[in-house]
Amino acid sequence: MNRIIVCVKPVPDPKHWDKVSMDPETKTLKREGIPNIMNPLDKHALEAALALRESRGGEVVLLSMAPPFAKTTIREGLAMGADRAVLLSDRVFAGSDSLATAEILAAGCRWIGDFDIVLCGNLSIDGSTAQICSQLAEMLELPNVMHVIGLGESAGDNLVITQKIENGYVKLASGFPVVLSVRKELNKPRYIPFTGILAAESKEITMLSNKDLCVDPERIGLAGSPTKMAGLEVRKFERRKEKLEGTVDDIVEKLVEKIYQCGVIEC
Ligand SMILES: Cc1cc2nc3c(=O)[nH]c(=O)nc-3n(C[C@H](O)[C@H](O)[C@H](O)COP(=O)(O)OP(=O)(O)OC[C@H]3O[C@@H](n4cnc5c(N)ncnc54)[C@H](O)[C@@H]3O)c2cc1C
Repeated sequence: MNRIIVCVKPVPDPKHWDKVSMDPETKTLKREGIPNIMNPLDKHALEAALALRESRGGEVVLLSMAPPFAKTTIREGLAMGADRAVLLSDRVFAGSDSLATAEILAAGCRWIGDFDIVLCGNLSIDGSTAQICSQLAEMLELPNVMHVIGLGESAGDNLVITQKIENGYVKLASGFPVVLSVRKELNKPRYIPFTGILAAESKEITMLSNKDLCVDPERIGLAGSPTKMAGLEVRKFERRKEKLEGTVDDIVEKLVEKIYQCGVIEC
């Protein structure tokens, strides 16, 4: 095994989602000042990469497209055991939809080069399109398997992939290079040891801009993204209030009747 690239996306920490708002002008998420974590499924992708490195050797490289503050999240992946990281960061990337993001990540993969596997999470907890992995594979002209729940090796240097499907699973064999996206059933991400945190401080994070990647500016950023937000509406939920009167027995009876009418219970 030469190299495994793991795509890691910094996402707003769900504990602070109440602070995420929408920009009414660009109709994109405003995430400034909100603490970030690594997209949870990306930890499973990284765990798979580390396990493959343990059995087959090679190098694990993290790849992220994000503003410079993402370094903190990337350090977490380095502390888990990745060898180094590449952060794609440039103002011209801002506002990219999933197709433009995949275009930039594909350029990042080509820049890193000489890889056998690109691993992604199946979907992110913020954008949640689950499109990046397949778009990335298409742009790299490589085979793609999503919903990966098992990875093993077979004789003949093939990767045996277990893919979850609707009512079960299928086993596939793939050569290299291949682009995979993983589900949480695949593994349990390892705990980060204190020594890992210390080691991460001296691991390399290479920052690249579009000057290094040379992606056509017409295909990236808000202007280059084919997805256009037509409208944006924040739904307001107002509770209907109703006070039930009577004795406790009357109130319970009325309450049960209301719950029944709502279809929550069957008599
Ligand atoms: C018009 C428009 C404007 C947008 N503007 C912005 C913006 O300004 N800033 C912004 O942050 N988002 C913006 N977004 C959202 C952005 O397009 C998505 O966050 C991005 O395309 C990834 O999509 P996703 O999260 O649905 O990925 P999914 O396909 O759900 O993610 C699957 C996996 O792909 C990998 N992956 C996804 N994104 C990245 C990444 N950035 N780096 C490394 N790996 C990744 C991870 O492994 C992840 O688990 C915009 C979207 C639209 C439609």
